[in-house]
Amino acid sequence: MRIAWAGLHLGEEPPLIGEKGSGTIFFSGCTLKCGSCQNCQLSSQGMGREVSASDLESISLRLQERGAANINLVTASHFTPSMVESVARARSQGLQIPVVWNSSGYEQVATLSLLGGSVDIYLPDCKTLDSEMSRSLMGAPDYPEVAKRALLKIVADKSLVVEHEQLRQGVVMRHLVLPGLLAQSREVLHWFAANLKDRALLSLMFQYTPVAMGAARHGPHRTVSRREYQQVLAWLEELGIDDGFVQDPARNDDWIPDFTRSNPFPEGQAVPVWHYETGYLE
Ligand code: SF4
Repeated sequence: MRIAWAGLHLGEEPPLIGEKGSGTIFFSGCTLKCGSCQNCQLSSQGMGREVSASDLESISLRLQERGAANINLVTASHFTPSMVESVARARSQGLQIPVVWNSSGYEQVATLSLLGGSVDIYLPDCKTLDSEMSRSLMGAPDYPEVAKRALLKIVADKSLVVEHEQLRQGVVMRHLVLPGLLAQSREVLHWFAANLKDRALLSLMFQYTPVAMGAARHGPHRTVSRREYQQVLAWLEELGIDDGFVQDPARNDDWIPDFTRSNPFPEGQAVPVWHYETGYLE
């Protein structure tokens, strides 16, 4: 496996951060090549360092010691077998907090079946349900069918369990609203309402920020407007979707992490524990 950074992250959805933050581990590489990627340093440039299942076990336990609400594995699909081994090792050494699988949603049912015993919470994207858009934005025209099958499987596997306002088990489906492409969002919201409402939570993200590097050069060239934001909120109301989270629209480029820094995130939003250049930071 190859990872870039691990630490306590306070920028995730409220029931995932507890008091100290989500114990986030960012993996290098990705199975997609999204034009709208905000993590190009990892997804396409491969920034990071190789680690063993034993290393990842130790990092997970360190995050738990530091008070992490969960272990949040970000974009690890391409390392699934090693990751399953690592979680099993960490569990046998005392890892008790939930494990979160934070992914693109582009995963085969067979891959997800390998994860069943390791993962408690799924945090998948549902980027678009339009195959032409999937082809042009991600180079994966089959994304809609793959993601729908994946979402239906994980929602059937993991019912929502919330304890003391923290998610212990279940699915939070994320959708990033892209400027000028609102029809995509409307289709995703309709599908969620018809298939997952009351069984999963929805997280709507408005943080898209254009960047002039890597794969993101093909993404839209502006942020979401206030008017577009209001339109999406109106659709939520129309469809009766009220269980979930809505992010404020991005106002600047703070949302784009810089993984060359020991803390890639804005001040106060994360506490670094491990970095690919230095190892443990304390
Ligand atoms: S936005 Fe796309 S390319 Fe970037 S990490 Fe997520 S799934 Fe991978």
